[in-house]
Amino acid sequence: MYSSQVIGSKDTIKLDNGSEVHYINFDNAATTPPFKTVIKDIVDFSPNYSSVHRGSGYKSVISSKVYDEGRNMVLDFVKGNKNYHTVIFLKNTTECINKLSYRLKDSLEDKLVLSTYMEHHSNLLPWKYRFDTDYIDVDKYGRLSMEDLEDKLKKYDGKVGLVTVTGASNVTGYINPIHDMAKICHKYGAKILVDGAQLIPHSNFDMKPVGHPEHIDYLAFSGHKMYAPFGVGALVAPKEIFKEGHSEHIGGGTIDFVSMEDVIWAEPPEKEEAGTPNLMGVVALSSSIKKLEDIGMENIEEYERDLTRYAIEKLKNIPNLILYDDFDIDNKVSIISFNMKGLDHEDLATILGREGGIGVRNGCFCAQPYVQRLLNISDDDMEKYKVDQDLARPGLVRISFGLYNTYDEIYLLYYLLNQIGNNIE
Ligand code: PLP
Repeated sequence: MYSSQVIGSKDTIKLDNGSEVHYINFDNAATTPPFKTVIKDIVDFSPNYSSVHRGSGYKSVISSKVYDEGRNMVLDFVKGNKNYHTVIFLKNTTECINKLSYRLKDSLEDKLVLSTYMEHHSNLLPWKYRFDTDYIDVDKYGRLSMEDLEDKLKKYDGKVGLVTVTGASNVTGYINPIHDMAKICHKYGAKILVDGAQLIPHSNFDMKPVGHPEHIDYLAFSGHKMYAPFGVGALVAPKEIFKEGHSEHIGGGTIDFVSMEDVIWAEPPEKEEAGTPNLMGVVALSSSIKKLEDIGMENIEEYERDLTRYAIEKLKNIPNLILYDDFDIDNKVSIISFNMKGLDHEDLATILGREGGIGVRNGCFCAQPYVQRLLNISDDDMEKYKVDQDLARPGLVRISFGLYNTYDEIYLLYYLLNQIGNNIE
């Protein structure tokens, strides 16, 4: 339905056997292709290309204005509060979460951070290596346990300062009940960070009003997963947490005054964005937000859910295919992971690319502890992969749809997988 909106959705590629086929990109959870309007807006803006917050020239003033307006675009998009929140533009979700973990170090000094077994490493390692941590468990299908969240908050009795959770899993696509979680967290005095990398491109995000029990305290996401190019991400957080101390990166742009004896830091968000800002990244992100809003997040959600439902119904019938899913399609984004009995995940992904021109991802998708759980591998068994680097590692094959994918593309995947599944002894 929206296939003409992105660059490259009608591309063809040549297979090893010489035939030319339509390239099917089912790896949108890694990166989405840019909207055509995003590339046009970048080109249209480029005559004004100039340094942000660093000049009084005409073009510099325009560039600074557009850059700062990008913050309002983000706040409107996620329903943040302009008086209370600040938007910090960084490289991607990973950098945003790292910054937050660095900046919360003092306020969480005597506290514990509660993360989950479902996280992408980018929302796991910055906490694991800077704080005392514990992890919310998942059930046999990989869904996060709400009982375990409350049990752990109760057990630690006010000691948990932050719960850090993904909005949607990059492996199973499961959407976490972030607002219910926020309510529980706040009841026990903890704040909540939502890693929005996989949720923001697929649903209507609402931080909810400040002071509301279901309010999301911190949010991070990446432009390159929502039809903007690489290199820009946003951290939405209360301004006040940046008042004390300084950024992990300091230098140009972060200061109000410098002498050889003293420094006065700038106010946030500038204080947190060291060096010359990524103006064109913000032009692109603002443009992608505009396009997503024009299409309508509800429409995107509905279309992608229908695609996912169709895919699951087809894939369920394939012999020897194992789906890592609880089939609660209303509560997941358009990501499906599977394996084929008797075939290594890497071989299966290679066949799909080579025989069908279908781009998928295989492995652990930067979520090794979660994939280990889904595959039911014990910690002892996992150790042997650490010790023996030559051992083929366990993993899954993942398909993830963007708003431009089609039913026909899914049918082709089904057709090929069905052939493979039927040929397995
Ligand atoms: N969090 C989740 C859930 C992700 O899926 C990803 C990327 O795949 C990230 C964080 C990291 O995003 P980035 O590589 O843009 O920093």
